[in-house]
Amino acid sequence: LHAHFSSIQRESGFISGLVCVLRDVTEQQKIDKDRKQFVSNVSHELRTPLTSVHSYIEALQDGAWKDGEIAPHFLKVAQDETDRMIRMINDLLTLSRMDSGTQKINKEMVNLNELFTYILDQFDMIMKNGNKTEQGIDVNNNYKIIRKFTKQTLWVEIDTDRFTQVIDNIMNNAMKYSPDGGTITCELYETHNQVILSVTDQGLGIPKNAVDHIFDRFYRVDKARSRAQGGTGLGLSISREVIEAQGGHIWVKSEEGKGSTFYISLPYEPMEEDLWDEN
Ligand code: ADP
Repeated sequence: LHAHFSSIQRESGFISGLVCVLRDVTEQQKIDKDRKQFVSNVSHELRTPLTSVHSYIEALQDGAWKDGEIAPHFLKVAQDETDRMIRMINDLLTLSRMDSGTQKINKEMVNLNELFTYILDQFDMIMKNGNKTEQGIDVNNNYKIIRKFTKQTLWVEIDTDRFTQVIDNIMNNAMKYSPDGGTITCELYETHNQVILSVTDQGLGIPKNAVDHIFDRFYRVDKARSRAQGGTGLGLSISREVIEAQGGHIWVKSEEGKGSTFYISLPYEPMEEDLWDEN
């Protein structure tokens, strides 16, 4: 708390009163502290992969390039790490555009059942073909996606591309943090004024003390694991910004060792024609 005193002096020279201005500086201080912390985090997050790429290049220069077995491996690590740095910079740019309000949101009425189906079909296809997801997750055939959708067609106003990114991120996480595979249950249902979309995995779960932090920038329960999987620690913080910018909420319920459920709620108004359909 900052206190500022000044006296009110009459022309005659008499002091006729005191003015005391109290200003709450804690909020400003917190913003300053968060910003400094963020810059420090970004520097560390980028220095780690850069240092590692530097060492691999140095080793190659020192002669490893002649070794037909080691050289391709070193080059692969260097490439993976630069890819991850590019992803991180792109994530940071997205966050910065959202912070400054320059990130455009193109809202349109979307049939959420169709959109969610379309996204999950892609994951099913990737798994069937034993490919890797865009984020580089090796999905094998260890996962099974189950869909539990309401029969009601849910029309919601969202930015399709941004929303798709969020679901992609949550689906990728569900697999990344389920090293032994398992079932991923995707639900879609409505309440009287909200639609709820949820993704449940049977993976590692999240420790109690971490649950409140996983939507924070750069927060990871296990840095090494996230990094090894190509993670940037920014996916969920972007997801939260995207969902909140569309008037929704995102949260998680989790039990360590059992699995996690991520929920997204969006504002919803049943369409009149749907009301008629029910009769
Ligand atoms: P990243 O996956 O790149 O590290 P995210 O922002 O997507 O970053 O997630 C932040 C952290 O939250 C992860 O590092 C992980 O510790 C935890 N997390 C996210 N999704 C899950 C999940 N489905 N199960 C367990 N932990 C998760």
